[in-house]
Amino acid sequence: METIFTKIMEGKIPSVRLHEDELCFVILDINPVNKGHLLIISKECYPTVADCPDATLCHLMLVAKRADAKLRDILHCDATNLIINNGKAGGQEVPHLHLHVIPRWENDTKSIHLQKETYTDGEMAEYGKKLEF
Ligand code: AMP
Repeated sequence: METIFTKIMEGKIPSVRLHEDELCFVILDINPVNKGHLLIISKECYPTVADCPDATLCHLMLVAKRADAKLRDILHCDATNLIINNGKAGGQEVPHLHLHVIPRWENDTKSIHLQKETYTDGEMAEYGKKLEF
């Protein structure tokens, strides 16, 4: 499947590229949460984590570790968010596996806040039983 990221990878759409290797490439997000927000994109178009070979998935996380270090070193951010929107219902706009690395500063006034629920009596244990792996 051709996605906007495939077109970026092939140079059909311009981007600011920070890194490239055999499995992935890294660009700046065009609409950053904070400036320096980058995307680590699998070269193969796997829609979600479930479709991605383990070695590639591990590689994306290792590249994220390097990106995190670079953002802290050069932009002096206080923290980062590493985010994969894994499927449309999870907020994924581009169905081509990518990992967001977002630089964060104390008091940057940005929030990535999912509303939380509470379990009823015994429900948490039930979920625990169902979800063991
Ligand atoms: P997601 O919602 O996880 O699928 O994220 C898709 C991301 O791709 C969004 O944060 C967009 O801002 C970003 N994006 C879309 N088009 C471009 C582009 N041409 N160059 C760089 N980033 C893009």
